Amino acid sequence: MTIPQITLNTGAVIPQIGFGVYKVDDSEAEGVVSTALEAGYRSIDTATLYGNERGVGRAIAASGIPRDEIFVTTKLWNSDQGSASAPAAVDRSLELLGLDAVDLYLIHWPTPERGLYLETWTALEGVLADGRARAIGVSNFLPEHLDAVVALGGTVPAVNQIELHPALQQREVVSANIRLGIATEAWSPLGQGGALSDPVVVEIAERNGVTPAQAILAWHLASGRIVIPKSVTPSRIAENLASVDVVLPGEDLERIDALESGGRVGPDPATMN
Ligand code: NAD
Repeated sequence: MTIPQITLNTGAVIPQIGFGVYKVDDSEAEGVVSTALEAGYRSIDTATLYGNERGVGRAIAASGIPRDEIFVTTKLWNSDQGSASAPAAVDRSLELLGLDAVDLYLIHWPTPERGLYLETWTALEGVLADGRARAIGVSNFLPEHLDAVVALGGTVPAVNQIELHPALQQREVVSANIRLGIATEAWSPLGQGGALSDPVVVEIAERNGVTPAQAILAWHLASGRIVIPKSVTPSRIAENLASVDVVLPGEDLERIDALESGGRVGPDPATMN
């Protein structure tokens, strides 16, 4: 099994499939992330919001895997936006993770009502410059937010991490990401599990001799997106990673493309505050 890599606009590479840890308690995170690292994942996606950076950091330290072989992402929570708060939040995350730097640091939500995401971005450019983050990016940014960041004339976000699964394919945001040279990373790639029982997905999986989760993840991987599925079940953690070896026929990819319904599992970035 070889995990495909995506080259970011910084020149760094990120594994195309990583491991998400939303809703994993800090006390469980060390064990769950250790299982994922043993299964072969080399990218972990956490966030200040998740409250499990300490457990994630412990698993990384305990793994014995060289630091430069694990891609670590964390995120700035909304209440930490602002030119003074953001760099301090980075330091707290690094302390909890037990790391000198993260590979990717994201603004979690644009929270346009706060009106702080542009000054926050400029503050994160300082974090990039002093090496506390090897790349910086955004999450849940709509095209208008991306255009505003790029119009600052500084660093272009390396990644835009967005809700993306068969029912919500975010074609306008993905087009903006491509136009600006920003990699698309799909959160809730399985629709938080809801996409797995779709009859079309189930039929495609059965016919190709794979599981519904593998069929959906193979569809994401074929599109060139980064994905970060989450599970706390060891067999599913391994099953999801094994999707890198699944190739679906083009007509099956098109049938999953046709499942777009606009159904979100998370908040709307335009109003999330
Ligand atoms: P997901 O789409 O990865 O679904 C996870 C759920 O699907 C699991 O809890 C489990 O119930 C089920 N599942 C997973 N693998 C399975 C399998 N092989 N067979 C059967 N069921 C399976 O949802 P998620 O956790 O919301 O998203 C993944 C990651 O994305 C998160 O852990 C987090 O890291 C990130 N995320 C980011 C944001 C953001 O705003 N940036 C928001 C939500 C999630």
